[in-house]
This record gives sequence, C-alpha cells and structure tokens, in this order.
Amino acid sequence: MSAFDDLLAANRTYAEEFGDGGFDGVAHAGVAIVTCMDSRIEPLGMLGLGLGDAKIFRNPGGRVTPQAMEALVLGVHLLNVKRILVVPHTRCAVASQSEAELRAKLAESAGQDASWLHLHVIEDQVRALGEDVAKVRSHPFIPDDVEVGGFIYDVDTGLLNQKI
Ligand SMILES: [Zn+2]
Repeated sequence: MSAFDDLLAANRTYAEEFGDGGFDGVAHAGVAIVTCMDSRIEPLGMLGLGLGDAKIFRNPGGRVTPQAMEALVLGVHLLNVKRILVVPHTRCAVASQSEAELRAKLAESAGQDASWLHLHVIEDQVRALGEDVAKVRSHPFIPDDVEVGGFIYDVDTGLLNQKI
C-alpha cells in the first residue's frame, strides 16, 4: 500500500488510452506561459491549447525568476516558442498578504520558527508584472520578434486581462 495508489491506478487507466508516445517536445502552438502554482489555473485550457502546444513554467505568484528565465530562453531558441505570456492571477496567496503574515501561518502549521524562511511576496501585482515582462523583453537571449505579454488571470471569471 502506498499513499499514491489511487493516483497510480488512475495513471494505468490513462496509459491504456495514451496515444501520444514518441511525440516531440517542441511547443507546437509556439507558446510559453509563466504562471502561478495555483490549483485554480488550467494554463492550457484557458488558452484553448492542448498537449504539445506550450511550454509551462509555474511557481508561487507566477514570477519571472532566474529559473523561469532559463526556461524561456530554452523555449525560444530550442523549442519553437514565439509568444510568451506572464500570468499572475487574482486572489493569489503570495500577492494578498505580507511576508510576515505568511511566515506566521507557516510557523503555526509547522510548529516551529519560520523567521529564517524567505518568501517572495508581491506587494503590487501589476507593478511586479511590468517588471517581469520588462525582464523578459530586455533579456539578451530573447529576440525582439518574440511577443511578450503580461496578463492577470481572474480565477472567478476565467478571463485573462492583458495589462502590458
Ligand atoms: Zn497564486
């Protein structure tokens, strides 16, 4: 018995119907998405895309971290990415409370001091999005003909609102 039994059973069913073996790993729709880890976001579904269409990088807040930038550079040069969407969202946990508040919750959950944890909270979501989009656009390995947009995804309506 494993804590993963239900998921592995579901996977066997999935594999029985799986018909995409041998598929390549390029982004067929030429899209890369940087978005939050939030479980309310379906990055492919919200854009009308499917398996094989896009490169997706997720982290708390949907920030363009050094690792996200690495993914975008690889995507653009090696994996057919032509358009990049940076997509934070409404009611995001790391954009709606302070680092101190988040630390307090973690300390309570873990029953130990969390003061040493560095949490990347976002004070002004639109400003942070602007900085992230600028970071991508100005990167020397992101050519000018790659389109980069900044959007806020509304988890209550399913709509993307372009900000930049
Ligand atoms: Zn979030």
